[in-house]
Amino acid sequence: MKKRLGIIGGGQLGMMITEAAQNLSDEISEIIVLDPTENCPAAQVGAKQIVGDFKDESAIIKLAEQSDIITYEIESGNTDVLSKLKTQIEPSPSTLSIIQDKFSQKTFLSENGLPVSEFYEITSLDDLHEKINELGLPVLLKSRRDAYDGRGNFKITSSAEIKKAYQHFEGKSLMVEKFVNFKMEVSVIAARNTNGDITTYPLVENVHKNNILNVTIAPARVSDNVIKDAEDIAKKTMEVLKGAGVFGIEMFIDHDDRILINEIAPRVHNSGHHTLQSCKTSQFEQHLRAILGLDLGNTDIIHKTVMCNILGPDGFEGKYKPVKLDKDGVYLKMYGKSVSKPQRKLGHFNIVDLSDLESIDRLLKIADGIKNSILITPLD
Ligand code: ATP
Ligand code: MG
Repeated sequence: MKKRLGIIGGGQLGMMITEAAQNLSDEISEIIVLDPTENCPAAQVGAKQIVGDFKDESAIIKLAEQSDIITYEIESGNTDVLSKLKTQIEPSPSTLSIIQDKFSQKTFLSENGLPVSEFYEITSLDDLHEKINELGLPVLLKSRRDAYDGRGNFKITSSAEIKKAYQHFEGKSLMVEKFVNFKMEVSVIAARNTNGDITTYPLVENVHKNNILNVTIAPARVSDNVIKDAEDIAKKTMEVLKGAGVFGIEMFIDHDDRILINEIAPRVHNSGHHTLQSCKTSQFEQHLRAILGLDLGNTDIIHKTVMCNILGPDGFEGKYKPVKLDKDGVYLKMYGKSVSKPQRKLGHFNIVDLSDLESIDRLLKIADGIKNSILITPLD
C-alpha cells in the first residue's frame, strides 16, 4: 500500500525530501508539508502545503489526518502533541524529545558512554560562575532549545563577559560546556531503518563561518584511525538512539585526534547535501528508505565532492535576481526562497570530481572562484 507522507517543515530540507519522495512513487502517493511560509520551498516542487506553525496543535492534527507517516525537517516540533497522535512518526517523538533539548541530549550521550565535552545545566548567574570555576575559560553558554546556526551560543572568554552572556539569554533554559579547541569539525550522516539496520556515510569535513556551515568536504582528509573511530561512534550513537531515519552527527576532532560529539540532528543535515551527487543514494532517499522500512541504499562516495552554501549577503534584505551557474561538474541547487536576508541559506552548489583526478585543494579553489562569482543582488 502506498503511503501519504507528511513532513513538518517545508524549507530546503523538506523540499529535497519531497523531491526524493517523488522518485519513490511506488511507495509514496502524496506529500504534504506543514510550514508557516506561504508557497514554501517544498510546495514549490509539488508538495501540498498546510500553512501553519510547526508547534500549532490543530495544524499538526490536520497534517496527521492527511498522512500515513510523518517525518520532519526541523527538531523544534511539539513532542507533546506528536506523541499523542496515532499516525506513525519517524524518528519517534521520544527520540526527538531527547535530542531537541541540548542538555538532555548531552546527558543521554554521556550516560551511554559516548564522548562529549564536559557540560553542566545552568540555573542561575551564581550557578554559571560556579560551573565556570570548575570548567575554566573559555566556555560556551548555550540555549538548551530551539537553537540553529549558532544563534543559541555565546562564547565566554573572560570573567568580565559572564554576566553579559547570562543576560543575553534572559528567560531561556541554559547549559554550559567547555570550549573544545578542535582542529577540525566533521560529521557522519547515519541512517537506521525501522528494522534496525544501520548505515553510515563516509566522514566529511565541515568548515563553518560565523557559526554557519560554509563548506563540506567529502570525504574528510583525516587518518584511517580517525575515520574508524568516528564511524564506530556514529554506529554506537544510532544503536542507543533507536529512532528510524537519517541523523546528522556533528563531531569535533581535537589536536590529539580524539573525537567528541558536538550534537545530533534527528533529520537530514546540511553536511549531507554532497550525497545528492557524490553517492548512489542521497541522504534524502536514505531517510525515506529508513522510515518506510525499506533496505538502506549504498553510501559509498563515488566522486570526491565539495559542497558550498550560498548565503544571503550582509546588509541586504529583499527580492534578488535569479542565480545561474553553468559549469561541468558543478550542481547548483537554489531553494526558491523569494527574499534574501543576511546569512540566510538560499542554496548550495556541489563541485563533483567527475574525472576522479582532481585534488581536494583544487576543488576548493574552484569553489572559491564560483563563490566569488555568485552575487546576490536586488531584483529591480
Ligand atoms: P547548527 O544549526 O549549525 O547545528 P547550533 O545552533 O545547533 O548550530 P551548535 O552546533 O551547538 O549550534 O554550535 C554551532 C557551532 O559552534 C559548532 O559547529 C562549532 O563550530 C561551535 N561550537 C559549538 N560547541 C562548541 C564547543 N563546545 N567548543 C567549540 N566550539 C563549539
Ligand atoms: Mg550544530
